[in-house]
Amino acid sequence: MPVAGRKQKPTAVELESATVVSTISGKEWELPGAWNRMFEQRVIWDYTTEGFEKIGALPGGESLEWCYGCSKCVPVCPVDIVGEYGPRKIHRKVQMGVDLFRDDDLWMCTTCMNCLRVCPKEVDMIQIMPAVREVAVGEGLVPSELQDVFEKTFRYGNCLGENPRRRAAWTRDAGVPVRVLASDPAPVDVLFYVEDYWSHHPRGQQAARAFARILTALGVDFAILGPEEKTLGDSQRLAGEKGLFESLMDDVVATLSRYRFNRIVTPDPHGFNALVKEYPKRGHTYDVQHYTQLLAPLVAGIGWKRELDVTVTFHDPCYLGRHNGEYDAPRALLQAIPGVRLVEMGRCRENGYCCGGGGGGMWLDGLTGTRTTERLSERRVREAAETGADVLAVCCPYEVSRFEDAAKSTGNEHLRVLDIVELIDEAMGNGAAA
Ligand code: SF4
Ligand code: SF4
Repeated sequence: MPVAGRKQKPTAVELESATVVSTISGKEWELPGAWNRMFEQRVIWDYTTEGFEKIGALPGGESLEWCYGCSKCVPVCPVDIVGEYGPRKIHRKVQMGVDLFRDDDLWMCTTCMNCLRVCPKEVDMIQIMPAVREVAVGEGLVPSELQDVFEKTFRYGNCLGENPRRRAAWTRDAGVPVRVLASDPAPVDVLFYVEDYWSHHPRGQQAARAFARILTALGVDFAILGPEEKTLGDSQRLAGEKGLFESLMDDVVATLSRYRFNRIVTPDPHGFNALVKEYPKRGHTYDVQHYTQLLAPLVAGIGWKRELDVTVTFHDPCYLGRHNGEYDAPRALLQAIPGVRLVEMGRCRENGYCCGGGGGGMWLDGLTGTRTTERLSERRVREAAETGADVLAVCCPYEVSRFEDAAKSTGNEHLRVLDIVELIDEAMGNGAAA
């Protein structure tokens, strides 16, 4: 057993002899000392407990100390695959005196949950990391690129720092009317919660338009909040800005209370996660679906106009799959598209590899780039390319831009990165996805 970094030999403690007395007959036996051979208790309290006490005192931070070093978490950690990481390694560093509140390792976890899936002690990085980060944020110990996103979100209600009045600008080129509730507040079946990247990012806007066309073709009654919509902010919460998340929640709940709708449908697994897991904790419960869950039962009613003839591989978003258990709806959509041949990557479904964007990682590429051999998104694109696929299909708004960048930087430009709705839209005779 190592003590403060040094190996220490166990000391044998042997008694000369021992006497055993039968509780029935009262008879005594003399036993040789070897029978009683044991080792003196080894010194394990030389490690510092200060870090665990500080982290364990935080709500959600308790489980870091439960680690017993089995190492199951390390080979499944996506960050370890391109660097040095995993809960066991974080536990060990804290044990050896590293101040996690001030260490870059605090920002490397994407909260992908693959370690918790396999950990026998339920060491929960999804609780530990946000708890420790919240303290670091309060003390101003935030990487500047992340601080910039926090400020944009606070000021504009979206992580991209875009003018909120342009939130519905994407609808102009959708080719179908998209109702904005502020100007037409009649009750609606589906409130389409567009979120930041589909509202403002050029590649996200293309997917938003495709989705609006699909909903229209299927006769779904839907509307958006437009300029009234703010981000749900789940990634900001996981990155340590719980206060900002709660303030956004107050605004979102107040906005939603002004309209009547049956369900909320969002393309963003992070926003979806907030609505199904975090909002109910504060008493705000809605009927919520990821867009793949809305479309999967309806896909048989789509009037296909084209056969695509493409081999497609699919990347499971951590916050749709592992965090919320939805693996089938995206695959049902892909398999329904005429001419799509679905091939799986080695790491898929429960063991899907993280794109690197979760838990604030979306905005920490500068920091993680200095501590990994390649980006997680680059690693994933190489795995996708190895399947021989023409298309890497996604259903999280973070991923199109992440994977398109990675396809370029890894020399896999031939691999096209498309949202599932873009493939559906193309097979319906719109757009130019294939
Ligand atoms: S799987 Fe859990 S108990 Fe095992 S080393 Fe990792 S954190 Fe520790
Ligand atoms: S949540 Fe994911 S990134 Fe974070 S330590 Fe666990 S496996 Fe690694």
